[in-house]
Amino acid sequence: MENEILFSLPLPTSEEFDSMSDLLSYCNHFAKNNGYAVSTKYSHPERNIGIKCDFGGVHRQVVEEQDIKRQTASRLINCPFLIYGRKYRDGKWRFEIKNSFHNHPPTPAISHPVHRRLLEGQIKEVEHLTYSGCKPKNILLSLLQKDNSDNLTSQAIYNAKQKTRLQNLNGLSPLQKLFQDLHRSDWEWDYSLGDDNSVISLFLAHPDSIKLGRSFNKAFVVDCTYNTTKHKFNQLGVVGITSLNTTFYLCMAFIPKETEEWYTWALIRMKNLFLNIELPLSMSIDRDLALFNSILCVFPNSKIIICTWHIYGNIVKNAKAKLDGECLNVLLQMWNELISSKTENEFDINWGQIVSYFGENHQLVLYLENTWIPLKEHFVSFRTKYNILEDMSRPE
Ligand SMILES: [Zn+2]
Repeated sequence: MENEILFSLPLPTSEEFDSMSDLLSYCNHFAKNNGYAVSTKYSHPERNIGIKCDFGGVHRQVVEEQDIKRQTASRLINCPFLIYGRKYRDGKWRFEIKNSFHNHPPTPAISHPVHRRLLEGQIKEVEHLTYSGCKPKNILLSLLQKDNSDNLTSQAIYNAKQKTRLQNLNGLSPLQKLFQDLHRSDWEWDYSLGDDNSVISLFLAHPDSIKLGRSFNKAFVVDCTYNTTKHKFNQLGVVGITSLNTTFYLCMAFIPKETEEWYTWALIRMKNLFLNIELPLSMSIDRDLALFNSILCVFPNSKIIICTWHIYGNIVKNAKAKLDGECLNVLLQMWNELISSKTENEFDINWGQIVSYFGENHQLVLYLENTWIPLKEHFVSFRTKYNILEDMSRPE
């Protein structure tokens, strides 16, 4: 490149530094304000460092003709700029300029990846906000509010998050790290291992949640969502209600199967949170018989309330094949009246009406009779709402 045009951009003036990284950051900070960027060309810890322009060097691969686009997009144009720094006997780092010329004009800071990286303070902020559960979009907004610098892009936030994550893991797997953190924490937690020593269930309750749960220990909603993670765990969640009608998460458990055995495993651990105080008066669930039986077994004195919305959904699903649209509407109307019955007597009358309307041998009547009527005390108004209210207003 004999006829190459060279550019003389401002040069950093020599100073002394306590470390190699201080020297490099100084040069980069200077370069950023003067239209270029630098990076390490080579370095020997505690000895010396070669610092090149980040347009220095060439791509190693042979650029083929059809790859012209990549070639033009490449940043490496063999810029000759070079700084040499070394550690002196007095322990200080100093540098000298070995080649002061660039083969390109000054470019905006944003065009250099090194200047798009976050600063140490910004990385700490990303780490802190990530830990507080902030989403990347909100982290970016928060940082921009403090400092509208051009290195703040969503990509930089993602990169910093990923880097922090790997640093935090410190070579451990995410699960090993989780257990290490749990051991040091005041969370209530437990786990169990499978035959191959892998973790197959995990129970977690945050100390603040436990405090809330012990203050508002009357009514809880227990629900299980299936296959929530890529490992196909089922997540059992328990939500409580405060006196202000707001909800809070009491605890959660990841269990391998939605069986009575596993529900019981989780509920026993939940029960331990209520040590020395009254156990929950009521637990609301959808119609999961395994969960129902586990609650009966672990909390025999708690009232189980089955969510009427789930029952309704089940009936519609079941009735669709057996009834035409009009009959289905009649049934649902009658069903609503049935579950709103205020007294036992009213319930019997309403049930009698369903039986006589459809006939006692109708498939649907048999389905209701076998599936839901035996559980009536867990969802009919006079059996649930009033009893609970009465219990809840009972003085401590
Ligand atoms: Zn250069």
